[in-house]
Amino acid sequence: MLLAVCCFLAGCGLRTFLQLEAVRIDDGLEVWLGGGGNSVGVLHGRQAFLSDVKFADFGMRLRHDLEDTLRLKVSRVMLTHAHQDHAGSLALYPEVGAVLVHPNAKKRLLAQGERAPFVEVDGEIRLFLGEEEVRVLNLGSGHTDGDLVAYLPKRKWVVAGDLVNEDLEPRADQAYGGDVLVLAHTVQRILELDFTHLVPGHGQVMPRSKVEHFGDYLKQLEAGIRAEVTKGSDEDTAVRAVQLQGFDDIKTAFYVPSREGTTRAMFQSVKKETEMNSSKKETP
Ligand SMILES: [Zn+2]
Repeated sequence: MLLAVCCFLAGCGLRTFLQLEAVRIDDGLEVWLGGGGNSVGVLHGRQAFLSDVKFADFGMRLRHDLEDTLRLKVSRVMLTHAHQDHAGSLALYPEVGAVLVHPNAKKRLLAQGERAPFVEVDGEIRLFLGEEEVRVLNLGSGHTDGDLVAYLPKRKWVVAGDLVNEDLEPRADQAYGGDVLVLAHTVQRILELDFTHLVPGHGQVMPRSKVEHFGDYLKQLEAGIRAEVTKGSDEDTAVRAVQLQGFDDIKTAFYVPSREGTTRAMFQSVKKETEMNSSKKETP
């Protein structure tokens, strides 16, 4: 039974989720794929800027790589959002100078008992780290209600957290204030940036074309659902009607919904938005 469950989970992406692989891009950039959420280090002098700290043993291995192997001091951390697999190992950096977070992520982390020199990013903070400029941006949320991205304009890279996951359905975690319609719009704002590569929350580094494909999927899904809501279709009818072609490469995993799950979530968000707009119009 246990083996069957493990095989099932492995088939649904558990192996990718748990396997930790360090990839050195060049002297100034290293990516740690897997072991929970992906992490990105901007290395400058004897210091590092780190986006997402992982959790449990993976977080300890990441800190070991940075501090013991590379002999760098992590001076600044950015958290793409408050989920444990991205933010759980924050306590391993007690001397960090600043932890950049979305205001809503800060609230959640404080409620979870995390204490750190949090710096809220409401709009944008620009950091100049050696040769590298890092823009920490609040472009909108959707995976949770407190998502940030980092943009490295010189090398045209984006660090997107779980707003984008390679080849996977979008995950809007409602328990953390996520909403798939909001996520769809945030992905369009990410695509407004001039980038060639994107580090997703989970999976391999993606070329821009893959992110555009994911953006097209969300756009078409929203448009299809909006048409059904306008017609007055109920949820089941809308799910049957909106069967998108050309996106079979975007799959489910144990931590993201099925295509049907995404479609239902989109229906509920669009319907809610439509009802709110019509009640606003009715209010004198
Ligand atoms: Zn997440």
